[in-house]
Amino acid sequence: MRVIVCDPLEAEVLDELKSSFDVEVVDGPLSEDELCRKIGDADAVIVRSRTKITRKVLESAHKLKAIGRPGVGLDNVDASAAREKGIMVFNSPEASTAAVAEYVCGAMISVARKLNFADRRMRGGSWAKKECMGVNLEGKTLGIIGFGRIGKRVGAFGKALGMHVFAYDAFADDKMRTEAEMLGILMRDSVMEILKESDFVTIHVPMTDETRHMISVKELALMKEGAIIVNASRGGVIDEDALFNALSSGKLGGAALDVFEKEPYSGELATLDTVLLTPHVGGNTTDAQLAAGMMIVEKLRAALE
Ligand code: NAD
Repeated sequence: MRVIVCDPLEAEVLDELKSSFDVEVVDGPLSEDELCRKIGDADAVIVRSRTKITRKVLESAHKLKAIGRPGVGLDNVDASAAREKGIMVFNSPEASTAAVAEYVCGAMISVARKLNFADRRMRGGSWAKKECMGVNLEGKTLGIIGFGRIGKRVGAFGKALGMHVFAYDAFADDKMRTEAEMLGILMRDSVMEILKESDFVTIHVPMTDETRHMISVKELALMKEGAIIVNASRGGVIDEDALFNALSSGKLGGAALDVFEKEPYSGELATLDTVLLTPHVGGNTTDAQLAAGMMIVEKLRAALE
């Protein structure tokens, strides 16, 4: 079985791939026409976010059985054209669960303890000890919106930190309820309940018509005074203008945002000291990247052998 690798992969992942397949690493980036010429005799192709697998490319892929895309997104793969041709498409969103959940814990602690603000002040020459009074996480309520892979992991971390953890998921079933119960997490029936009772709120939903601006003026008004909100899911789930107003009025105590409606972000939230901003790095660890590649090799092996 012949596999073409169009985007950079870790050396360990390539070695693993070569142990099962005849591998060609393409010295990219390739144009659409170059890829059309290359892909003709491939059984599988691996891309990251750089190379686009378009309908035209798939029309030239006479032997192709599978497309592997390490990581979460599939924006660069025409999955419906692949489906029409019976080509399997694999990604590995599960690889970044630990990285994102750890990011969320770090972000909650950082905002609660004003660590970024303290760092900025010290670099500016000021010893702002009094301004850096924070709050504990222990004993506080943590509300999780979206209790999937990452939401569950954050919930477990919250319990380990001594927090009272609640979760809401629009598609909660008996299995999810049992998992929550085993973690000591209480399921709630609405986003509203979560917002009203949480000192910390973290969001872990996909971007859909229902989740776009699911947190806006009305929802922010329901939150506790001084509450902290974290979004490392998808930009656009929180209405950024409404969040700016809730933070600058002092209604909310702080926010940590890793994802934005328009990336790269350069908006007015960057003017607020209570906000931690990061450039979509939730899943950005060498471990997660490596795991994402290894999982794709496993999935290709299972599918092709
Ligand atoms: P997942 O599919 O395992 O979990 C998502 C959960 O959200 C599911 O349980 C689903 O039922 C629930 N959900 C869907 N619509 C909902 C709604 N309207 N209200 C409440 N719950 C709803 O996904 P995951 O792996 O946990 O990822 C969660 C989010 O994190 C995704 O948006 C993903 O793109 C994002 N993500 C971000 C980074 C980063 O770098 N910041 C990295 C990886 C994943």
